[in-house]
Parts: sequence; C-alpha cells; structure tokens
Amino acid sequence: MHAPVRAALKSIVGSAHYRDSDGDLVPFSRDATPLFSARPEAVVFPADTGEVSAILSLATRHGVPVIARGAGTNLCAATVALRGGIVMALTRLNRILEVAPAELLARVQPGVTSSALADAATDHDLLWAPDPGSRTAATIGGTIATNAGGLRGLKYGVTRDYVLGLEAVLPTGEVLRTGGRLHKDVAGYDLTRLLTGSEGTLAVVTEATLALRPAPQTSGTGVAYFSDLAAAGRAVTAIISSGVLPATLEFLDRSCIEAVEAFAGLGLRLDAGALLLFGDDGEPDAVTQALARMSDACAAQGALEITRAAHIAEAEALLAARRCALPALSRLGALTILEDATVPRPRIAEMVERIEVIADHCGVTIATFGHAGDGNLHPTCVVGSPDDTDALAHAEQAFKEIFNAAIELGGTITGEHGVGAAKLPYLPAQLGSDQIALLRRVKNAFDPAGILNPGKLGS
Ligand SMILES: Cc1cc2nc3c(=O)[nH]c(=O)nc-3n(C[C@H](O)[C@H](O)[C@H](O)COP(=O)(O)OP(=O)(O)OC[C@H]3O[C@@H](n4cnc5c(N)ncnc54)[C@H](O)[C@@H]3O)c2cc1C
Repeated sequence: MHAPVRAALKSIVGSAHYRDSDGDLVPFSRDATPLFSARPEAVVFPADTGEVSAILSLATRHGVPVIARGAGTNLCAATVALRGGIVMALTRLNRILEVAPAELLARVQPGVTSSALADAATDHDLLWAPDPGSRTAATIGGTIATNAGGLRGLKYGVTRDYVLGLEAVLPTGEVLRTGGRLHKDVAGYDLTRLLTGSEGTLAVVTEATLALRPAPQTSGTGVAYFSDLAAAGRAVTAIISSGVLPATLEFLDRSCIEAVEAFAGLGLRLDAGALLLFGDDGEPDAVTQALARMSDACAAQGALEITRAAHIAEAEALLAARRCALPALSRLGALTILEDATVPRPRIAEMVERIEVIADHCGVTIATFGHAGDGNLHPTCVVGSPDDTDALAHAEQAFKEIFNAAIELGGTITGEHGVGAAKLPYLPAQLGSDQIALLRRVKNAFDPAGILNPGKLGS
C-alpha cells in the first residue's frame, strides 16, 4: 500500500484510529480459526458511515483489499487478510440507536455485541433471539455477515429471520438502504437477505434494523443420557414428532461428556454414550407440558436417566455443559479444530457414525457435539501439537471426508460458521460450477474492483 493511500486513510479516520506498526497489526492477523494467519498492511477504526464510505471509495480507486471485521470470532478464516490491505474494524460503531417495543424492533450499529443487544431487549421485556455461543464478544455486523445461528435455532431460527433492514456501504462508497421497519415488504429483489450471510464480500453493514420478540415468561431445561448416539438421535425424532418445538435440543457424544466433566465437574454420567439437553420457553404451564412430553419421548427411546432442572441455577448448570464443550475439548491438545457440518435431522446418528469411522481410519481424535434439533454438528479434532505436520494432514483429510459425507447425506459443509477462506475449497462440491459462476457474477455486480474480502466467497 503506497504512502499516499496511508496518508489518506489517516486523514479520514484521524491518526488515533489508524494503525500500521507491526505490533498493532499482529492481533488483526488472525481470527478464531486455527492455522490461518496473514498480516494486513493497516487497520482502521472508522467512526461512522461517512468514514466507511470514504475508506471504501479510496480502496476501490487504488485497488486495495478491505476486510470488514467485528470481534474476529469467526471460525472460517473470514477476516484473515489473505491478500494484505486494510482491516476495517467496526467496533467504534457500537451504539444501540433505538429499541421500539411497539414495533418489536431495534436499530443498532454493527459494532454492538449480540449480548449487549440481548440485554437492551430484556430491559423492555423483549428477546433478541439469535444466540451464538460467542455472543458476549460477537458483534451484530459479524452475526449478520455470517448469518449466525446458535442454541435457539430450532424454535427461533437464525439471524436472517430477524434482519428487517440494513444500511450498507458498497465497495464504491455508495450508501445503500435495504428493507426497513416493515415485517412485510416484497418490493424488489431481497437485498437484505442477500447481504445477510455474504461474509463481508459484497458490502459493509453500518446499521441494522432487527426484529425482536416478546420475552418468554419462563423457561425449563432437562437432560437425558443414552447408551449411544443412535438412541439419542431417535429421541430427537420422537420429540419433534410429538408436536413440541423445543427452544433447546443439544447433544454431546461420549468424548465430549468426558471432556466437559473433567473440565467443569458438573456431575455428568460418564457411563453414557450420549447426552441430550432439552428445553423450552414460554408460558409456565406450556413449558411444564413441553418438558413432560420431551421426557416421555426420551424415556420411550430407552434413556438411561432423565433429569429436569428444578430451578434456574440448575438449568444454567446443565446449559453450561453444552456451552463449555469447546474450552473443555481445547484442554486435550495444543490445537483444537472446531468444524461445522449439517445434515437433515433424522440422519444425525448416521452422520456421527460416519465421523467416527472417518476419525478411526484417518488416525485422529474427533469429538462431536452440536445443535441436534437443527442437524448441525460440530466435529472437533484435537491435535497434540500445531507443528505436527502429519497429524495436521490427517485432520485435513478427515474433515474433507466429513464434508463429503455431509453432502452425500443431503446436508451442507457449513450450517452456521460460514465459508470464509477455510471452507472455500469445499464449496464447489456442494454448489457445483454453475452456481459458483453465478456467485462470482453477483460479487462482480457489487464489487467490480474485487476489493472486499478477496479470496473468500465470490472469488
Ligand atoms: C466460542 C465460539 C462459539 C461460537 N458459537 C457460534 C454459534 O453458536 N453459532 C454461530 O453461528 N457461530 C458461532 N461462532 C462463530 C462466530 O462467533 C460468529 O460467526 C459471529 O457471529 C461472528 O461475529 P464477529 O463480530 O466476531 O465477526 P468477525 O469474525 O469479525 O467477522 C465475521 C465475518 O463478518 C464480516 N463482517 C464483520 N462485520 C461486518 C460488517 N459490519 N459488515 C459486513 N461484513 C462484516 C467479516 O468480514 C467476516 O466475513 C462461535 C465462535 C466461537 C469462537
């Protein structure tokens, strides 16, 4: 990047919000994805839409890559500056502009964290439903750009179900407003949905209008242990077939149960092959009834033990078992590679069996947990050392086979973490070359100079 571009960036954001020293660039060379890193040439922290627009039009004029970044918690190397350029951190745009209970919506800047919005909604007895495990750090901009899911996906859907309107800046600097405050609006192509999940490759989101829901009056949680995952998978099908749409339906396999128990000492049963965490929210009577039905469905599928939380603290302890799966597994080796694949719900047990066979023949350790209600699995590979190139090659081979298995079973290579740079090589197997070509044409329409997050979606 030439000196005049650096000088222009400084004058747009002010020297205090421009960084290009080695030490300052290091934290922006990585995100939460292991094994990917690349040093950007500068990091800028714009204060408003005008500055975002000025940076983007400057970058387009000079052909300099720009990578929009929220908290950098993505797990697909979506914010790694593979081709250098400018990392644009949106963390200063962190204001909740409005919560409107009468319209069940909020208007926020992209740097607001998911949990800050959830807290603001709770103050009005409302619910911000998207609930990624990373919610205390993840920003709304990143959540929209990855179309993040979370623990409530089965009942409440994912981020795209809540994005009503966006203000976004195109790579040329034009400010675009899509959608708005309406829950019904079918005028034109749905650009709001196109931008949601576009992983920072089409435009930079500078404001979002988001749907909220009335907060549920109460919630209830239970846990069921099974001898194996196949039985837990049958229980998932039985629960859904019983007419309940649970707010929570999560599973851990045997290795995860062992790791979580060693990490958190929650008193989990170590002789079980699978654990199913179930829960619902709503009116107290309806929650009691839903939990009873879910318990019955688990019992009918031969659950070894079923416990229902008697109070909120107990429910939180049960949910902690699911939330701490990743940190618990991370203690087992120097490098933990968390992946994401989704299959149709009735095929979860089959997919887990395929993962076990693949792990075995590739000679790697893989533990699996995930959102059973969504068919969304997180196979997680633990490697002893990041320098063990053989082990890394085996892990890569295992994941390649896992993604192929997901596609074969009618699923997807990513249910919620996104494509980024990490999954890009696997995308053609799922979409086919015609659709990849169409994606490139869409990218080109938004970003003719190809400056936004190059080397990712649309490349
Ligand atoms: C412990 C842990 C748990 C997680 N749990 C979940 C989970 O349950 N469900 C889930 O879906 N994900 C989960 N994730 C993944 C990740 O946290 C989410 O994808 C999150 O929404 C990313 O937000 P972020 O602010 O960190 O975005 P970043 O990582 O900074 O960016 C992600 C993508 O969004 C783009 N982007 C960021 N801001 C903007 C903007 N303003 N305009 C345009 N593009 C932008 C970036 O260019 C990049 O492509 C988890 C990650 C971790 C580490």
